[in-house]
Amino acid sequence: MHDVVIVGAGPVGLLLACELGLAGCSVLVLEREPEPGSPWKADPLGMRGLSAASVEAFYRRGMLHPLLKASGVGDRPVAEEPAQPRGAGHFAGMMLDPANVDIAALPFRLPGPAMDGVMTDLEAVETVLSERASVLGVQVRRGVAVSGIARDDEDDGVVVVRAGEHEYAARWVVGCDGGRSTVRGLAGFEFLGTEPQFTGYVVLATVADPEKLRPGFNLTPTGMYLRTPAEGYVGMLEFDGGAFDRSQRPTRDHLQAVLRRVSGTDVTLSDVRLASSFTDRAMQTTTYRRGRVLLAGDAAHIHSPLGAQGLNLGIGDAMNLGWKLAATVHGHAPDGLLDTYTGERRPVGAWALDWTRAQTAVMRPDAHAQAIQGVVRDLIGTRDGTTYVFEKTSGSSIRYALGGGHPLTGRNAPDLRLGDGTRLGDLMRDGRGVALDFSVDRRLADSATGWTGRIRYVAGPAGDDLGSGAVLVRPDGVVAWVGDHEPDRDGFERAASRWFGRPATG
Ligand SMILES: Cc1cc2nc3c(=O)[nH]c(=O)nc-3n(C[C@H](O)[C@H](O)[C@H](O)COP(=O)(O)OP(=O)(O)OC[C@H]3O[C@@H](n4cnc5c(N)ncnc54)[C@H](O)[C@@H]3O)c2cc1C
Repeated sequence: MHDVVIVGAGPVGLLLACELGLAGCSVLVLEREPEPGSPWKADPLGMRGLSAASVEAFYRRGMLHPLLKASGVGDRPVAEEPAQPRGAGHFAGMMLDPANVDIAALPFRLPGPAMDGVMTDLEAVETVLSERASVLGVQVRRGVAVSGIARDDEDDGVVVVRAGEHEYAARWVVGCDGGRSTVRGLAGFEFLGTEPQFTGYVVLATVADPEKLRPGFNLTPTGMYLRTPAEGYVGMLEFDGGAFDRSQRPTRDHLQAVLRRVSGTDVTLSDVRLASSFTDRAMQTTTYRRGRVLLAGDAAHIHSPLGAQGLNLGIGDAMNLGWKLAATVHGHAPDGLLDTYTGERRPVGAWALDWTRAQTAVMRPDAHAQAIQGVVRDLIGTRDGTTYVFEKTSGSSIRYALGGGHPLTGRNAPDLRLGDGTRLGDLMRDGRGVALDFSVDRRLADSATGWTGRIRYVAGPAGDDLGSGAVLVRPDGVVAWVGDHEPDRDGFERAASRWFGRPATG
């Protein structure tokens, strides 16, 4: 019997396993694939853009250096002042200039080691997480395809999942088993959304005449193609209503015909080494929890890769769920804590689905969509427009509705700093919440003792405090409460009880 069985050792399942292991839960991960590596996960096909918010999750758990190393990126010097972002991404294939982001309009962007996103690959992410999971005592069993839920009994608090002849019992089961999730179907989650308008392809092949393809994203009257810097790695999408999907094998002839149509060239493909198709079907479950079964990552939401959101969304799910489920397992979660997982993450997922739909809408090959595309291109080229898209895609605009008047509450905490240089991110490695008290008289010290095992209390003069006197940060890095220079103890204790349960004393 484990506290939690996680189905799927993709990036989301592994990160969730790390979070639960860090919090002292016994965790078993069941993964269908017998081996971890695959050409689909390695560079170039496995390349993924991690947002600054996702990179920050790695930083806060002491995994930034291993992530950068595994991604072939050197450690980044920490700027003294908030700096321009290194990249600002794209919207519907229209690239944004990072120099055009108005950082003065981003008041919570403090300098820190995780200010920028990282281009990495799935293999690097999974390797870092697997090593960490193993250190934390998580068991990962490979070559085990979950095919049934044999028992799901709310009353005796046990769920039993079946994989072939084997059964595995746990108090909780989390399906992190990707877009075609078996757990989602077995547990009866409702999965709703919109049907596709296009088929997309990623192809690794020999392009006989690459000069016929322009580098980067190219929007064309019939779709879009992407020529990446990696030789022979091409992406494309064609508005066919999603007719061609993964049930058909994309042949060389088919892929070449699509590429010729969308690029308007007579480019020649040969020696197709790897190819896969996807669509812009956009679906989400109506809840992320049914009884003792939860979902995270692509199992809970699918959408097209336009705008590079899926993995970032899943990382956010895992960080949000991990500490809440651990507190529930340990019996000190306040009432309703676990249900705030759906309450907080589902709207973010719904936003991501809409973000991809909006991009599909302006890429459609009809006169009306093309006209909107021109308008959008002009708008996102303005300073305000670029800043708007950057805030969305970097994760900095996410704010949970936690109540409370302070503009930081509910947001991902900036990397606040004490006068001695200690950063908030460095204080979060053990997965506890953090109470930062900048008041001269350590005003919250007595109050915080009630939550010692759950909240790390740190006091001292401020370096960067953004005008606050004290801040309570949840284990997932979200600001739960902000106090002024004479922080109100009652307010702190109410916030601590709301997120961390009753104090151990009093
Ligand atoms: C071309 C492309 C480009 C992308 N680019 C980006 C990007 O730049 N940025 C971004 O954020 N996202 C991007 N994404 C999306 C991102 O790759 C996914 O959202 C992310 O990998 C999902 O992670 P996951 O752990 O939820 O699911 P998965 O990575 O799909 O992992 C699920 C795991 O569960 C296992 N599994 C499945 N069924 C079972 C079963 N029955 N029993 C046991 N194990 C099972 C699978 O083998 C797999 O290991 C892109 C996607 C594509 C297709």
